[in-house]
Amino acid sequence: MARRSRFHLIFRGGWRSTPSCESLVGLPPPLGEVGGGLRWRRGINIFRMTSSPHHTSALVLFSGGQDSTTCLAHALSRFERVETIGFDYGQRHIVELQARQVVLRELRQRFPAWSTRLGEDHMLDLAVLGNVSETSLTRDMAFRMEASGLPNTFVPGRNLLFLTLAAALAYRRGIQVIVTGVCETDFSGYPDCRDDTMKALQVALSLGMDHRFLIDTPLMWIDKAATWRMAETLGESIGAGGGQALVDLVIEHTHTCYLGDREHRHAWGYGCGSCPACELRARGWAGYCEA
Ligand SMILES: [Zn+2]
Repeated sequence: MARRSRFHLIFRGGWRSTPSCESLVGLPPPLGEVGGGLRWRRGINIFRMTSSPHHTSALVLFSGGQDSTTCLAHALSRFERVETIGFDYGQRHIVELQARQVVLRELRQRFPAWSTRLGEDHMLDLAVLGNVSETSLTRDMAFRMEASGLPNTFVPGRNLLFLTLAAALAYRRGIQVIVTGVCETDFSGYPDCRDDTMKALQVALSLGMDHRFLIDTPLMWIDKAATWRMAETLGESIGAGGGQALVDLVIEHTHTCYLGDREHRHAWGYGCGSCPACELRARGWAGYCEA
């Protein structure tokens, strides 16, 4: 069984990723192909992460949206035990939180093979994040681009906080793999969604908790059209018709719209159709259908 290198960062007054780093936080190898752990070679300051044959469980950051639902299916197809974590940080629309429960229920009902793997759901109250941030996700204000070039949907430090809390929970639950739907391809420029941020966090959390974490980001390098295709492929992998069933579930029950619109039904699901999140989802759907 070959030990596969997962990780290679060099620190010389700042983080620098080697060209081969892209696979670090990407898809982990299928179960049974991996071995190893986190190593820090003193003196030359090289971190090397290899996976472990004991990676049988994962914790998925799950919001009830298209991306995190696809990540959850990804985890269910690879790990024997999968738990989910969500955060209530004063989102403007309660529909986001409701979608989580509906998606979990539908996954259990429609995919019995995954149901046995789907474990506990953890919901954390993060009202404090709404208190310290001034964004259109948590306050009743219009969407706009800020002088920084970031949309005002950006909640500073949100993913850093989410992943730190997820790691703390994973530590307690004996889980090494944390799955998150962050993406650099179709995104709004959020710095805490970037691959380098995930790599740095993986090192910081592993060292800070003295526990070997692997942050798995299956969507990092694919666009929204490919995310739809991934859902289809994952669903199909557990049986004929499963692909369409999972795509249908994503359309019908996941929620993406920033305005919390569950009245207007489109081919790609519910939403206002004009907010940045709806536009991105619609564009991805169009690309998926064209292919
Ligand atoms: Zn919308």
